[in-house]
Amino acid sequence: MPSRSVAIVGGGFGGVGAAAMLRRAGYDDVTVFERAERVGGVWHANTYPGAACDIPSHLYEFSFAPNPRWSRRYAPQAEIQAYVEAVAEEHAVDARTSTEVTAARWDGTRWRITTSAGDHEADVLLTACGQLSTPTVPPLPGLEDFAGPAFHTARWDHGVDLTDRRVAVIGTGCSAIQVVPAIQPQVRQVDVYQRSPGWTIPKLDFAYGERTSALFERLPLLRRADRAFILGIQEFGAAAMTRHPRLLPAIRAIGRARINRAIEDPELRAKVTPSDEVGCKRLMLTDDWYPTLTRDNVELVTDRIAEITPTGVRTEAGGERPADVIVLATGFASHAFVAPMEITGEHGTLAEAWGDIPRAYLGVTVPGFPNLFLLYGPNTNGGTGSVIFTIESAVGHVLAALEALERADADRIEVRRETAEAFDGELRDALAGTVWHSGCTNWYVDENGNDPSQWPWQWSTYRRRTASLAPGAYELTRTATR
Ligand code: NAP
Repeated sequence: MPSRSVAIVGGGFGGVGAAAMLRRAGYDDVTVFERAERVGGVWHANTYPGAACDIPSHLYEFSFAPNPRWSRRYAPQAEIQAYVEAVAEEHAVDARTSTEVTAARWDGTRWRITTSAGDHEADVLLTACGQLSTPTVPPLPGLEDFAGPAFHTARWDHGVDLTDRRVAVIGTGCSAIQVVPAIQPQVRQVDVYQRSPGWTIPKLDFAYGERTSALFERLPLLRRADRAFILGIQEFGAAAMTRHPRLLPAIRAIGRARINRAIEDPELRAKVTPSDEVGCKRLMLTDDWYPTLTRDNVELVTDRIAEITPTGVRTEAGGERPADVIVLATGFASHAFVAPMEITGEHGTLAEAWGDIPRAYLGVTVPGFPNLFLLYGPNTNGGTGSVIFTIESAVGHVLAALEALERADADRIEVRRETAEAFDGELRDALAGTVWHSGCTNWYVDENGNDPSQWPWQWSTYRRRTASLAPGAYELTRTATR
């Protein structure tokens, strides 16, 4: 029976999934700390109208907890939230909600963890803080003086009735393209402020009927075949965006054709057609974005925002467009990783070790930070793929590391600096040739060209490389009397 105690920071898919997998592997001292009042992570936080997954649900679920009864090909937010909560309950995950971890310090043998509800100790620390959990509010002049409600998509104010209101939505990323079609029928006017457009491809969403759900339930092979099919499509996208750019024109042609099909007005067509390479910004899946932009009560504004006034938005072209409500669909501080939590290892903090660019071996381990594992850590995001698949792979690596500790009767495991540096070199070389670095603004690459976000290979490669510990990659030591 494995005996290590494990603390996990974050109760989203990463934290709940890790806790469930650890419990399945026989670890019974596993504690999840979640600052929100419920588990669920981004699916608890993002309740904006139209919120849904843009990865088909049979891949956006844990392989060990299949759900044959998703209502749609792409499940809506509430259903995904219910799924995470059900997985936590089924695996008796000990989740301490409304408890924020503010700091963690390695004391030479264990992790000492400071939380808003008191101190905690554990042999092993996992962080599962997500990459999209801290909303970005852009420094728009005048925003604080806006007279009406203004909120971020990830902090949707359900107390505000949008019926017959004039709404300004700032941003045209994945969140905006879900919000705008959802609120358009209800509002008087929606102005969408676009800084630069992104490419879209068809979502082809549909509801599963009772017969299909019953078939998925009775024939697990069918569900697994569907999962493999979805993974195959994601792998095709990953290949196009990383090593096989010759596949990109086909995707771009799909994107261009649907713009031309949905929009007749040449001016609007031009506004929504990106000039940068398909996949450089995150590819967006939607069936209703372009048709919504052609509605009478929708205006796509491409003039830069000069300032927010108390009653609307003034653009650099001059003129003010009135607004009663402002919705900030402006994304997340995706490069903060574990911040604002302070993690102190053997020689200083993680923030100091990282400097300008967060780095981790396979996105999971950092030299100088024994028994620490990051989930959905640096360079484990993709332009395609399911983060659930990524998380399961990373937890597989954690389990392999813990097994190695048990086998060696050791109590400390740390990635060797040479291993981490060699991996980082390999990663940076591979990243240079990817579409994400082809010259656009996206949330993967920072203003200095650093990329702490993307995995530049296939997802099957991530699964393979994390499945076991490469010989000599880690140093195992015994420090305490166990
Ligand atoms: P995002 O993709 O980062 O988009 C932010 C948008 O705000 C961009 O259009 C950006 O313009 C614009 N923006 C930022 N600052 C601005 C400013 N000062 N003035 C004007 N416009 C500004 O954020 P997101 O839409 O929330 O999506 C983030 C990620 O969350 C997605 O890529 C995806 O991975 C995930 N997500 C997933 C789903 C799902 O279905 N699974 C749904 C929603 C989100 P520029 O492009 O010009 O920078």
